[in-house]
Amino acid sequence: NPFRNAQYLISAHHLRDLPPDGGAEAAFAGRSNAGKSSALNTICDQQGLARTSKTPGRTQQLVVFPLDDAHRLIDLPGYGYAKVPENLRLHWRGLIDTYLRTREALKGLVLIMDVRHPLREFDQQMLEYAVATGREVHCLLTKADKLSRSEGMRTLLAVRKELQARAPQASAQLFSSLAKTGVDEARAVLAGWLGL
Ligand code: GDP
Repeated sequence: NPFRNAQYLISAHHLRDLPPDGGAEAAFAGRSNAGKSSALNTICDQQGLARTSKTPGRTQQLVVFPLDDAHRLIDLPGYGYAKVPENLRLHWRGLIDTYLRTREALKGLVLIMDVRHPLREFDQQMLEYAVATGREVHCLLTKADKLSRSEGMRTLLAVRKELQARAPQASAQLFSSLAKTGVDEARAVLAGWLGL
C-alpha cells in the first residue's frame, strides 16, 4: 500500500505555496462532515493523518500529503459551513477554480459524499468544474455502513445514472471508513491515476 507513506507537508493558503507543479497528485474534495478526513486516513491507513477541524479558517487551505518525491494527495478545503463569510467563500471559489483549471500535476479528483446525501449543490458544482476542466473524477459514497446493503446499492446505481448524464468520465463506489469497505477499490483508482 503506497498510501501508507503519506506524510503531512504543508497547508497552502495560496496556489503559489504548493510544491512545484510536477509529478502526479490526486485531490480530495467534499462538503464538510461528508467524511473526507476519515476517508484519507483510511486509504492511507494512518489514523491521525488528516485532522478533522471544524473551524472555517482552516477550510481555506490545501493540505499537501506527499507519498514520495513525485506523488501527492491534496486535501482540498471542505465546503458547506453555514457561517462562512462571503469574502471567504469567494476566496475558496477562486482557489479551487484556479487549482482545477491550472494544476498540471492533478490527475484526478476524489469527490467525497455522504451516501445518505449525494450530489448536493456543492458536489454538482465540483462536478461541473471537473467536466469543464476535463478532470477524472471518482466519487466515494462514504458512511455506507449507515445503509443496508440493498439501500447502498440502490443509491450507488442512482448516483451512477446521474453521473452518466452530468459527468460521463466520473465513476462512483460505496465506501466506509468505519467498516473499512471499498478501501482497496478506492486505492486501485488512485494508484491508476498516479501511476503507482
Ligand atoms: P470531513 O469534515 O469531511 O473531513 O469529515 P470527517 O472525516 O471529520 O467525518 C465527519 C463525521 O462523520 C465524524 O463524526 C466521523 O466519525 C463520521 N464518519 C466519517 N466516516 C464515517 C464512516 O465511514 N461511517 C460512519 N458511520 N461515520 C463516519
